[in-house]
Amino acid sequence: MSATSAGTRSPSPDATRDATGGKPPALLVSEPQLGEDEKRALCETIDSGWITMGGRVRAFEEEFARRHGAADAAAVGSCTAALHLILAALDLGPGDEVLVPSLTFVATANSVLYVGATPVFVDIVSLARPLLSLADAEAKLTPRTKAVILVHFAGKLADREAWQTFARRHGLYLVEDAAHVIGLEGVGTFGEAAAFSFYGNKNMTTAEGGMVLARSPELLERVRRLRGHGMTTGTFERLLARHADYDVTMLGYNYRMDELRAAIGLVQLRHLDAWNEKRRVLRAAYEAELPRECPAVLIPFSDDEPSANHIMPALLPKGVSRRGVAASMREAGVQTTMHYPPVHQLSFYRDRFPDRALPVTEEFCDCEITLPLHPKMRQSDVVRVVETLADAIRAEGGKP
Ligand SMILES: *Cc1c(COP(=O)(O)O)cnc(C)c1O
Repeated sequence: MSATSAGTRSPSPDATRDATGGKPPALLVSEPQLGEDEKRALCETIDSGWITMGGRVRAFEEEFARRHGAADAAAVGSCTAALHLILAALDLGPGDEVLVPSLTFVATANSVLYVGATPVFVDIVSLARPLLSLADAEAKLTPRTKAVILVHFAGKLADREAWQTFARRHGLYLVEDAAHVIGLEGVGTFGEAAAFSFYGNKNMTTAEGGMVLARSPELLERVRRLRGHGMTTGTFERLLARHADYDVTMLGYNYRMDELRAAIGLVQLRHLDAWNEKRRVLRAAYEAELPRECPAVLIPFSDDEPSANHIMPALLPKGVSRRGVAASMREAGVQTTMHYPPVHQLSFYRDRFPDRALPVTEEFCDCEITLPLHPKMRQSDVVRVVETLADAIRAEGGKP
């Protein structure tokens, strides 16, 4: 999500002007892929006369589950809602501590606060491997630690076996924030449950939306019930049933998905593999171009493990101002963003949890710049981005 305008780009000329009155850059960090098939699916849904929690939502859940090798799934309004529902369904609450990365979108930590539990920030392994550090997690365990939320940052899966062993040894729930890894083999198989996002800048989108996968059918059923005010039946089921009565058995929420978004999601799912493959090819182009033009720029995750390539993070050489580099790249028509401002340093969190130091996360976030990566790009765009980056570093007095 970060500060990007991508995914929310509006066709209205007024809305595409930024706060300074300028035009958005030609090459965006991310762009939603939407076309005629999505338009047709939306029109069919409107014509059907049934616009929320009906057959399309159910079909989307089934397709999504099948695509990820799961038995079932529950569609919700966002990944934030998915995380909240998972923690609520696991009965986490006041007094419980949940280990979370600070190198993530704020939603990961917010979901812990929603249930009244306490987020405990854990550092990353290294600049080259910016995933949650097992050693730091171990150091931050207390008798109150109940769960770990893993974020598969940038599209790379955390080490499944190591975290499963850790969770088993300490009696912790494992939860995946899978916002960056839609469609990647192995996601959703780590622990109790996984939360996915269909926000406009993710690998597939429903504009806003999310999904839950859970290991146990009972947990998924709890999530499903919590999603709709804890009601024992949904509107669609009541339409089909002979009796229109229902009961409420728990304090739930309105985190439902509607038929329009599910209709878009069904179309998007059909393209997901091709888009993720395109992302892989573009990432490979970056890995070829960057060392040639910008040998001083570090590329995290330069290994052969599979990735959903959600974003393209790069680390600027020491002493080079990211702000300056971003401004001159923007001037040259290339948008960049950052993933992420560390959550523990955001005012809200800093005020509540002072004196937290995460040296590796802080070093990573000081020099991270996110380069454009989305399936509408061509390899020639990658060449242009890298040349623009090299020029921008030079303009800042650095050596690319
Ligand atoms: C996008 C994102 C979220 C939030 O997703 P929403 O669907 O917008 O609620 C949570 N975690 C991570 C890591 C994300 O990238």
